[in-house]
Amino acid sequence: MSRPIIFGEISGIQEGHWFTGRKEMMINGFHRSWGVGIDGNRHEGASAVVLSGGYEDDLDLGNEIIYTGAGGNNPNTGKQVEDQSWENRGNAGLLFSMDQGLPVRVIRGYKHRSEFSPIKGYTYAGLYSVVDAWEEIGKSGFKICRFRLEYSGNNYNRQISEKIELDYSRQNTERKETTVLRIIRVTKIARDIKKLYNYECQICQVVIHTKSGRYAEGAHIRPLGRPHNGDDNPNNILCLCPNHHVMFDKGSFSIEDNLELVGMVSGQLVLHAKHKLNISNLKYHRQSHGYN
Ligand SMILES: [Zn+2]
Repeated sequence: MSRPIIFGEISGIQEGHWFTGRKEMMINGFHRSWGVGIDGNRHEGASAVVLSGGYEDDLDLGNEIIYTGAGGNNPNTGKQVEDQSWENRGNAGLLFSMDQGLPVRVIRGYKHRSEFSPIKGYTYAGLYSVVDAWEEIGKSGFKICRFRLEYSGNNYNRQISEKIELDYSRQNTERKETTVLRIIRVTKIARDIKKLYNYECQICQVVIHTKSGRYAEGAHIRPLGRPHNGDDNPNNILCLCPNHHVMFDKGSFSIEDNLELVGMVSGQLVLHAKHKLNISNLKYHRQSHGYN
């Protein structure tokens, strides 16, 4: 793989571009790897993925794709035959792209089963952002690495339809794009929880002071939205500082049923007497990030 990795759009190849085969994508570095879904590695990130029907757990909703990581499958049947790993070159690359906010080119192949797939060859679906990563047990009973990709290209019409499809407006959510795309939840329930803690982080008890007053973030233990479908309920929300919010969402640490922390942060979750947590959501978070 001598060609350098290139992120973002490549001149001469517009969204919707049709390729007759994989070889055509390799010439200009559009997707450099033959027979592999994810082009990238842990040090540089992943720049392109192909949906080729090789993974039975893939879910394609158009502007939102639940993508199965690489490894552990029988390429002929698409069935998982062993566990996937975050150490896998491609999976580690997608994690890096998520954390660094790097765009990923998505390509759909003719074998991919979705209404968006071409009948022949491959089509370029546009730029997507990796906005979430977790692990779960797939259809065949093996651990799979999962990524949520959201369309982030410049096609205005598509961005509108994405907002309707995801129905974020109902939840009074403000979308904010920074280096890494983060969706800040500002529901009333989250505000109440933050007030209960007087904006002190439940992990480090630090308060962020801003010109408008004390600042903290409401962190959902089991995330809202597909495919997690957590509740916007006090028993599913923590009051965290921005650092611990990011670390929690990315699974740098998790929380045991007895409120002890596991992972890269040690100690105990601070819990107010009036704040009851749904223990099954803690379990969901641990399982999503490979603890117990
Ligand atoms: Zn904190």
